Amino acid sequence: MIPVQGYTGQIVAVLGLGRSGRAAALALREGGAQVVVWDDGQTARDAAQVDGFALRDLAKVASFEGVAALIVSPGIPHLYPSPHPAVAAAWDAGVPVDNDIGLFFRSFATDDWDGFDTPPRVIAVTGSNGKSTTAALIHHILVENGRPAQLAGNIGRGVLDIDPAHDGEVVVLELSSYQTDLARSLTPDVAVFTNFSADHLDRHAGLGGYFAAKRRLFAEGGPDRAVIGMDEPEGRYLANQLAEGPGDDRVIAISSGQKLIGLGWSVFARKGFLSEYRKGRQAGAIDLRDIKGLPGAHNHQNACAAYAACRAMGLGPKGIEAAMRSYPGLPHRSQLVAEVGGVAFVNDSKATNVDSAAKALQAFAKVRWICGGLQKEGGLEGLLPHLDHVVKAYVIGREAEGFARQLVGVATEVCLTMDVAVANAVAEAEAGDVVLLAPAAASFDQYDNFEKRGEDFVRCVTAATL
Ligand code: ADP
Repeated sequence: MIPVQGYTGQIVAVLGLGRSGRAAALALREGGAQVVVWDDGQTARDAAQVDGFALRDLAKVASFEGVAALIVSPGIPHLYPSPHPAVAAAWDAGVPVDNDIGLFFRSFATDDWDGFDTPPRVIAVTGSNGKSTTAALIHHILVENGRPAQLAGNIGRGVLDIDPAHDGEVVVLELSSYQTDLARSLTPDVAVFTNFSADHLDRHAGLGGYFAAKRRLFAEGGPDRAVIGMDEPEGRYLANQLAEGPGDDRVIAISSGQKLIGLGWSVFARKGFLSEYRKGRQAGAIDLRDIKGLPGAHNHQNACAAYAACRAMGLGPKGIEAAMRSYPGLPHRSQLVAEVGGVAFVNDSKATNVDSAAKALQAFAKVRWICGGLQKEGGLEGLLPHLDHVVKAYVIGREAEGFARQLVGVATEVCLTMDVAVANAVAEAEAGDVVLLAPAAASFDQYDNFEKRGEDFVRCVTAATL
């Protein structure tokens, strides 16, 4: 645990008691704060009492008397579509609102560091897709190369739940837009922006608000080194804002598809080959095509981002390549779960939006595609240009019929449930096909979360191929 500094003897309120809220409450208490907590759910409140926290309903301005700060969990709207009543009450009471990420950045460095040879460093990863994969890959590469590292944030442990850093340790953080939007301190040493596409628009009142939230990680005076995906205008804009000129290597520009060979520093992947250029010269190359844990152009983009971040930490190309080859992949992201009779079964349940599903579909040549669920804003139109590898779509979910109707130009079958979809895909698949779960939709109409949906897919695959 990282004890929170700066609130000794003061009252701090914590709103939302999921994984990160509970970790924040414990870390505040460890740092000497008096913690009061609230969650709109009775179960979470009961659990907090077991942990010995005082409950306080925070929905009124009067609740904030004597309170030094309000710490809000990422799942709770702090502005859009409308602020949680406790957040609005804190504003009215003049109490600063922050989150666990802000607390982490202010509490990470300690007096112990005076005795360290190498100060600990933080790599923070944000972007619309590929954050978890990139963060996990960076962590894996560091550890394989003998650098002590911890993985936290949206993936792994809550940020305040990690162990205090050792000499030379690197903390790899995955940060969502909800987290970067609210944190009052954001000071990573290396910041990564993987890519940008529409998501979470309700929480940010549109695309501009969503980008503004992510940009905060790169605010003026920000990271020593920024790894920026150049494949969308937002990334190019950000890189332009950060660099002093064409030869400035504070930015490492990355791309999946474009050749980037200017005077600065770049890492790009084309046709399965990763190349690093610095000051107009090639500095490294990796053949990514046979790396099992990183299939497809989207994962090659993640590989470029991870490679760049690790180069920024001083690792050499050979050590990075060797570690990429042993990267096991994450569950529910391009996860190869079985290969039976020449048919591969891939679980990409995390493809909850149109962009990530499109990328997954492009990663394989002949796809029997299991899709559907709760559709996100913006519809499926963005998918239509990417369906050329799809042999047939097997649509699940409560709104399967409406979903299937939108998949113009593709053979579709309304299956409604996972077991039917998998059984039918297995019955029709031929050697060389990939049966891919990449729903392009949220899971909540049929499952508690995308993990449960992915686990159901794996269960159905096992049952249908026995
Ligand atoms: P995040 O943490 O940003 O949600 P993940 O690594 O968990 O990212 O991947 C989420 C989904 O996006 C998965 O379906 C995955 O296959 C897909 N994906 C991974 N990397 C990328 C990328 N660079 N571009 C687009 N989609 C990606």
